Parts: sequence; C-alpha cells; structure tokens
Amino acid sequence: MTLRIYLDNNATTPVLPQVLEAILPYLSTKIGNPSSAHHFGIEAQRTVDAARDDVGALLGCASDEIIFTSSATEAINTALYSATKRGRARGRIVTTAVEHSAVLSYCTALEEDGFDIVRVGVDRAGVLNVDELRESITAETRLVSVMWANNETGVIFPIGDISELCREKGVLLHVDAVQAAGKLSIAFDDLAIDYLSVSAHKIFGPKGVGALIARNGAPFHPLHQGGHQESGRRGGTENVAGIVGFGVAARLAKNELESRAARIHNLRSHFEDGLGRLFPDACIHGITAPRVPNTTNIGFPGIDGDTLVAALDIEGVCVSAGSACMADSIAPSHVIMAMTHSYAAASEAVRFSLSHLNTERDVTQTLEVLSRVLPRIRQAETGSA
Ligand code: PLP
Repeated sequence: MTLRIYLDNNATTPVLPQVLEAILPYLSTKIGNPSSAHHFGIEAQRTVDAARDDVGALLGCASDEIIFTSSATEAINTALYSATKRGRARGRIVTTAVEHSAVLSYCTALEEDGFDIVRVGVDRAGVLNVDELRESITAETRLVSVMWANNETGVIFPIGDISELCREKGVLLHVDAVQAAGKLSIAFDDLAIDYLSVSAHKIFGPKGVGALIARNGAPFHPLHQGGHQESGRRGGTENVAGIVGFGVAARLAKNELESRAARIHNLRSHFEDGLGRLFPDACIHGITAPRVPNTTNIGFPGIDGDTLVAALDIEGVCVSAGSACMADSIAPSHVIMAMTHSYAAASEAVRFSLSHLNTERDVTQTLEVLSRVLPRIRQAETGSA
C-alpha cells in the first residue's frame, strides 16, 4: 500500500475523532430541526447554541455575533454584500492583491457593477504595504477587506494596525480569518473588526460549515432569504451535524492552540532546515515575514509546481501548487506573482501545509522523497541530472 503523507492542511484538515463522535448522533438518532417546538427540536437548538458558544470562545466574540453559514465563502460573500448593499452611489472597496478567490471574485463582480476596487500590493516577502492601504482609503471607501493569514504562504497581515486605521478613517473592515483561526489567538471584540469569516474544515471540523462574525450594529443584509433561522440573518435549516462538529473542533482548537503551534513550528523548522541543506537553491516564499506556523511555500528553480505536485503524489506525498480553490486552474499563483512579479516563480511555487497530526517521520520521509524526485524531474525536463 502506498504510504500517504498529508501536507495539504491549508486545503482542508481531517475530521478529528472527537469531532466525528459528536457529529454521528445528529446524523442518526438526534433528528430534530432547531425550529421545531418539540423535544427533538429543542435538543437540536440547544446543541447549536452550545456550538455557537464554543466558536465564540475561540474567536473572542459574543455568541449572538455569530451566523453559521455553509462555508467561509458564503460568510465572505455575506460580509461584502452587507457592506455594499446600502442604497447610495457606488463607492470604493480596498482589498489586497493576495486575497483568496472568495474575496477577489466578489470584488471583480462589484467592479463590473461600477465599484472602484483597489487591490493593495505586497512586497517580495509577502508583507502588506500598510502605507499604500492607508492612502487608498478615501471618503468614498465603503469597506476594507483583508485576510489575516495568507493561505498560500502563511504570511500574517498586521490586523491590529489595520483595524485601528479603519477605526480612525471610519470605514468598515472585513477580515478573512480562515487560515488564522486555530493557529493564532483571535480576540474579535478587542479589535475594530466589523466582519470576520471562518471555516470549520480548516480547523479539523467538517466541510460545508463556516461562520460569519458580524459586529452588533454593523450593516447586515442576509444573502439567503427564507426562514427566521440564525436570528433572521440566514434563511435555511441549519446544518446541525456540521455545526456540532464545528463547535467541538473550535473547543479543541482553543484548548490546544499553544501546544499545536509549538509542535507544528518545530516540524516546519525541521523541514525548512533540511530543505536548505539538501536544496540550497530552493526559495522559501515569505520566510522573512511573520507567518502562521504550519505553512511553507517553496519554489525549486526550473521545476514546474504542478509537475512536482504530481510527482510527489505518485510517491504518496500530498501537497498543492497555489491554493486548493485554484488547483484546477492553469494560471500560476496570483499570490507568488504579486510577491515576485515573476511568472516563472509563480509557476514553480508549491505549498506544504502541516498540522499537529504530522510527525517528524513525515518530514524526514518527505525530504527523502524530494531528494529522489527533484533530480528525476530535472533530468526529464533538461535531459541532464
Ligand atoms: N479564505 C481563505 C484564506 C481560504 O484559504 C479558504 C479556503 O481555502 C476560503 C476563504 C474559503 O473557505 P471555504 O472552503 O470554507 O469556502
């Protein structure tokens, strides 16, 4: 049987056994719809409320600021819709060049509707140009939307400073915290953030459930019209099993935040040190910037990223070139392109994203597989070893 080493945790994480155990009754005996007034309905509503408290504890927000959604993509769409729906003339949205497609695609759609979209750049290390961000915020600006941690490089944006800036300028702020939740400490209520989006399947919960945290008083317009679920903020019967799993995953993530981070940080250091020794010409994108502890994005000069991903997969090592959502597109990484302005570098980038479930052995074996595979690809591509 092929050995499988999973190093694609920014695409999705496995469901933890405790999460699965908590979910299963809600797919079998605990059959209630939270809107029903009988035993089963009341039980389902209580469970959803308990999960809401656990997600709130992880993110440092009040439970009534949480709206469960089907994904972070839906949460992001709801935030951007809420901030831009108001009747007055089209305005400006300030975002960054390295956002996830959930933000970038929505902004492109707004642009087609007449909004002025400013995509602030990053430097070679992936660090956001905060001065450019500040200068981009004008009286016409309706919203600033930035990510907390980049899904491809792990680079962290200074959300504290950005939230202060938005408070000063009096503009709404949405933060895509999908890759920060469970990896960094988040205190929503201590920051001037109006909307924050997260996803369960990036923190060892199930796929198909996310949350939008919307500050009480921030403009809100439901994206899904329907019943009165989620206090009238999202129509549609709740994904009870998914929400239960999200709650347990959030509780574990909060309790284990430091221990997981320390373990993953050590594994990544071991990996990056080994890479530096074995492949001195490899480029680790964003290595000089603050990064979440699990992500490393590497370019091997002259090696196409997609070719390397396929070769590693044959050897049982699962990684991504670019982001999972872009994996079926032929365009090279827009994130590495924004950092390097080099099509070659963007085409070569491969993301390794670890979790606390990985072992030292996974790292050693991946280095060993790379040592075998890279010369083989080079030889096939150039005809020389
Ligand atoms: N934002 C970031 C930074 C992501 O990494 C992802 C998923 O990869 C998303 C948003 C979308 O999350 P979901 O899969 O829950 O829609």
